[in-house]
Amino acid sequence: MADKNQALLHVCIIGSGPAGYYAAENLAVEDHVRVDIIDKLPTPYGLIRGGVAPDHQSIKGVFRRYEKTALGNTIHFIGNLDVGKDVTLAELRGLYDAVVVAVGAPKDRKLWIPGNDKSGVIGSAAFVGWYNSHPDFADLKLDLDITSVAVIGNGNVAVDVARVLAKTPAEMAVSDLAPYAAEVIHNSPLKDIWILGRRGPLEAKFTPKEVGEMGQLENCVALTSGADLPELTEDQMAGLNLAVRKNLIHLQSFAMNKPDQSKKALHIKFYAMPVEILGDDRVTGIRLEKTRVDENAKCIGTGETFEIECQMVIPCIGYQSIPLDGAPFDDRGGKFVNDEGKIENGLYATGWARRGPTGTIGTNRPDGHEIAAKILKGEKPSGKEGRAGLDALIKDRGLEVVTFQDWKKIEAAEEQAASGDIPRVKFHDIKDLIKATKT
Ligand SMILES: Cc1cc2nc3c(=O)[nH]c(=O)nc-3n(C[C@H](O)[C@H](O)[C@H](O)COP(=O)(O)OP(=O)(O)OC[C@H]3O[C@@H](n4cnc5c(N)ncnc54)[C@H](O)[C@@H]3O)c2cc1C
Repeated sequence: MADKNQALLHVCIIGSGPAGYYAAENLAVEDHVRVDIIDKLPTPYGLIRGGVAPDHQSIKGVFRRYEKTALGNTIHFIGNLDVGKDVTLAELRGLYDAVVVAVGAPKDRKLWIPGNDKSGVIGSAAFVGWYNSHPDFADLKLDLDITSVAVIGNGNVAVDVARVLAKTPAEMAVSDLAPYAAEVIHNSPLKDIWILGRRGPLEAKFTPKEVGEMGQLENCVALTSGADLPELTEDQMAGLNLAVRKNLIHLQSFAMNKPDQSKKALHIKFYAMPVEILGDDRVTGIRLEKTRVDENAKCIGTGETFEIECQMVIPCIGYQSIPLDGAPFDDRGGKFVNDEGKIENGLYATGWARRGPTGTIGTNRPDGHEIAAKILKGEKPSGKEGRAGLDALIKDRGLEVVTFQDWKKIEAAEEQAASGDIPRVKFHDIKDLIKATKT
């Protein structure tokens, strides 16, 4: 606890994802710092809960580290409080010595090609949010009465989406896939899943573990064309970055597979740039232009096009932050304008809100450390009210917020609702989440 005479530094973090918690963890080392972590959802942990694939439970396990931080005496979680709607950034800046924007990048980057507004085109933030019980997307009525889907992008999100669509109920047994999504996915007549990338296998962003998983599916064969894979000598292979080399080894084995080996096929197609989504109101296909990659890794269209039949298109091509009134925003980069995390005195950004949507969970760790160090060095207690002032404002407005203890009740109810190997059955409705805090 702080020395009784030491003034308190009040810090507010907007967003309880990895970036928010890593910043909090590093601020809490100082006894005189009080940290309030706000989230618009009644649940903490950002994309760990609503983004990371439901069958990747070991990755989701990182929440235990954040929980340790959350249970510290000087840190408070305030859920179900939407900054920009329930309270403004200006109000928070009036109450806290420092405010950290850690709101992530929850909006899909749009695929700007003709036909992108047809029914059946759904961005990955929405699609992933839907199968992960995110309250913003749980109500989407997705029609998976389809036989072919085009997943655009060569990153791990595209691979996650393809894998979740390909796996059998048995393969998803140890997952927290939303039950309503499981019903739709597992009753879908889907046969062909296409992962389409503009560049080649050497430029792909997915990681070997995720690529390897595509080769181990029970009911789905991973396919790629040998013609898309570079022919490299042993020395050239040895000279590749390890992850790229491992990817290539997996892809070479997929090139030996045959489409009739399994009920479903996962086609990984490189050098294919989407140019138009086809169909009247609904998607019936996608037109792509063949590309090549030049010596500067630039993707160049060859003018030759081809079409793939599909009834759904899922662009997994990146995300953007949503601007907050009072914080300068870089529209092009889809993130908050900042200088190595500092926006201006008293205002900071961390995680995807700072860097844009790149990097893994662990990439947010040094970010959190750096931001905390900057705040501890640059900000001084100024007699602002901090939590007491925010509590008064919440009471005045009659807002119903969620504490960390409330969240633990939600978590217990979700775990209790699960059976077998399922770790939890998540609530997807804000009303049900709030109701669970009353038990
Ligand atoms: C689909 C997907 C799968 C991924 N899988 C992996 C993986 O397997 N392994 C891995 O290492 N990385 C993975 N990542 C990357 C990882 O999730 C990110 O690096 C990380 O979540 C970014 O942390 P963040 O805190 O910046 O943002 P987020 O995790 O998005 O957290 C932001 C938080 O801010 C809250 N918020 C937003 N707006 C407001 C507001 N106005 N008021 C209050 N709160 C607000 C949100 O509710 C959210 O809780 C994945 C990413 C995606 C999109």
